[in-house]
Amino acid sequence: MQYSLVDNQRREAFTGGKGICPTCGSAMVAKCGPRVIHHWAHATRQNCDPWWENETAWHRDWKNLFPENCREISHTAPDGEIHRADIKTSTGIIIEVQHSAMTDAERISRESFYGNLVWVIDGSTFRKNFDIYHLLPDPTSNFAQDLIWSKATRSMQGAARGLFFRLSEALLENPNATRATLKSGWIHGIHEIEEQVNQAYRGHHQYDWVRPRRTWLDAKCPVYIDLGDNLLARLEIYDETGLHCIRLISKRKFIHDAMTELSADAIASRFYPL
Ligand SMILES: [Zn+2]
Repeated sequence: MQYSLVDNQRREAFTGGKGICPTCGSAMVAKCGPRVIHHWAHATRQNCDPWWENETAWHRDWKNLFPENCREISHTAPDGEIHRADIKTSTGIIIEVQHSAMTDAERISRESFYGNLVWVIDGSTFRKNFDIYHLLPDPTSNFAQDLIWSKATRSMQGAARGLFFRLSEALLENPNATRATLKSGWIHGIHEIEEQVNQAYRGHHQYDWVRPRRTWLDAKCPVYIDLGDNLLARLEIYDETGLHCIRLISKRKFIHDAMTELSADAIASRFYPL
C-alpha cells in the first residue's frame, strides 16, 4: 500500500517506518528495499482487503496522476464489508487499476460493491495479442447508418483492412433487411469511403484481442485498457450489429473527465477544448 497512518497522518513508506492500516487498524511496516516499490505491508497477516493486488510501478504511476487525497480510499458497505479503492475522485468516481487477470466472480463483486466504477487495465502484458485495425466512423453519424462492418481478426488479413456491406443495397433485394440481421451482400472496401470515414472519425477502431481476458468483455462498468503512449482504449460495442470496437482517448482527457464528471459512464462522453 502507498499509505499508512503514522501519528494519525497518512504517510508514504520510509525506511524503518511503522504505522497503522487506515482500513483495519492493524500494525504496518514500511518496505523500502532497493528492488521493490516502496510500500507498506501488514505486519502480522495478509492484507485486510482480499481484493488488494501487489503494487507495480504501473499501479503507483496511475495513483500518482490523481491528488493525494484521492488515493487508497476505504469504503464500507452497509453490511460492514470493507474494501479499499485505488482511486476515488472528488466527484465520487471509483477507478480500479488492474494489472493481473481477474475471475468473473471477483469482477462482478467489485462492480456491485463500488457501483460508480471504471476499470483501467494494464495492457502491457497482452499488447502483442491486441491488434488495432482500421478507423470506424462515429456510430451515431448519419453516414455510419448504411454500413455493416465485417469483424476484423488477425486470421482474416483482408477484413482487418476494412470490409463492409451497405444496408441500402441489401434493402433493394430484401425490404426486411436490417443492420442487426444482415450477414451477406456486396462486399465493399474501406478505400471507397476513406475520406468520409476520416471526417466522421471520433476514435473508434476495429481490433482483435487474441486469447482475450474475457471478463473485461463482459464487464458492466466501463473498461479502459492502458496501451502506453498516453492512450487508453475503451472497450465498446460499436452498433446494433454487436460489433466489438475500441475507442481511443488520451489519458489527459480521461483524468480530466474522471475529476469533473459525476458518473463513470460519462467519462469521455462529451468533448470540448481542455
Ligand atoms: Zn488493513
